[in-house]
Amino acid sequence: MNDLLVMKFGGTSMGSADRMRIAAQICADAQNRGPVAIVVSAMSKVTDLLLSTLRAAEEGDHDGVKENIRIIEKRHAETCRELLPENRRESVLASIHALIEEFERISSGILMLAERPPRSVDEALAIGERLSATLMAACLDSSGTPSIAVNARDVIVTDGIFGNASPLMDLTRERASRLLAPKLESGILPVITGFNGATVDGKPTTLGRGGSDFSASILASALDAQELWIWTDVDGIMSADPRLVPDAAVLDVVTYREAAELAYNGAKVLHPRTIAPLVEKGIPVWSKNSFNLSAPGTKIVPHAEGSGPRAVTSMSNVALISIEPASPAIQGTMLMGRVLEALGRANTEVLAFTSSSYRQSFCFLIRKDEVDAALESLKAELSLELAHEYVHPIEVDDNVGLLAVVGEGMAGHPGLAGRVFTAISAEQVNIIAIAQGSSELTISIVVRRDGLERAVKAVHAECKMGTAA
Ligand code: ASP
Ligand code: MG
Repeated sequence: MNDLLVMKFGGTSMGSADRMRIAAQICADAQNRGPVAIVVSAMSKVTDLLLSTLRAAEEGDHDGVKENIRIIEKRHAETCRELLPENRRESVLASIHALIEEFERISSGILMLAERPPRSVDEALAIGERLSATLMAACLDSSGTPSIAVNARDVIVTDGIFGNASPLMDLTRERASRLLAPKLESGILPVITGFNGATVDGKPTTLGRGGSDFSASILASALDAQELWIWTDVDGIMSADPRLVPDAAVLDVVTYREAAELAYNGAKVLHPRTIAPLVEKGIPVWSKNSFNLSAPGTKIVPHAEGSGPRAVTSMSNVALISIEPASPAIQGTMLMGRVLEALGRANTEVLAFTSSSYRQSFCFLIRKDEVDAALESLKAELSLELAHEYVHPIEVDDNVGLLAVVGEGMAGHPGLAGRVFTAISAEQVNIIAIAQGSSELTISIVVRRDGLERAVKAVHAECKMGTAA
């Protein structure tokens, strides 16, 4: 559908009856220009609450489970009463209650088993989005925009990796055109649940935390949308985290590759997997603020004029792991291969990797919350070498931070890396490791944790980020 607009509303944009009304107004305005489909997140904090309820169930905490379920139902029922005219409430309250009962059933199963099977967790978590989609569709419908709630489980077909599933695009396209296109053609606005999908044989899955952005881009691609608009609570993608850098500015335009690198390196505006489904068709994305409708937002496009460094991100919840052979009998490349495989088995993401050729030592950066799993896997893989001291004990340094300088066209700026390093050193911040992706789109720099903020500020100023190029 070449005039279709897909819009995604995040948790804060669905956070209350008032926020839902604003979203409904945005939808009504957009529909004057052409067909619209929307993807919604659960109301803010609901996914966290669902998840902690399941944890409580696993621990056998009956009262905690009961209390959480009461809170979740109350929040949605109250929103429903505030949102809908009286004659519309009853059926929606009944739908909410039925969804809550579904969640209750899964929680009871977990209480009984004292175990949380990933498949049940995915089925249970999707109820957050099903609740918000039910409310949002009713809100639209009752305010004059014919609308229907759609469970993405019927549309987005995924592999079977529970908790972090990936879409099977051909099957998804087929279902989207069978289920969604006829609704759109008859002027009905589908409100599709974000975050969830199902395997070919119907087992419920989710796409990873924050995955509603990804749902929206999957559906935009499957439906050949003209554009995707992602509504959040910030003005767009910024040149740096404004809490660290007061003069950080909203960027007018970034490229797909820049947006993906920024998301991956810690910028919170977009889920890192959002861009991939859009690449083939070059569908543009807008990041917009539903709390500030007059801000234009950031446009994310396939290509833009290369302008050197565009933004700097930072992550402090990271740890650097170093591995060093203690014997010349150890072949460094083989060791690296085995280490990377062990990390892969532990589902650990490597954020940066550097090596020195002489001592065959290498280090890599991972997320702090993945350290335990990574270490366990590494120690198992290298148990012999560690026991016989062919490899020095594995070192973990979590007193570090990562900053990433991102921009298309940095390759065309000789001397840029030097300027960045000089700016950081001038702040007396020690650089511990440096990595540059093969795309030359990102320079990743690991520094001492207590110097991270100063380093980010210095790089932002040195590269004159946030000022019009
Ligand atoms: N509700 C899900 C989460 O909190 C997905 C999303 O909001 O994007 O992770
Ligand atoms: Mg989000």
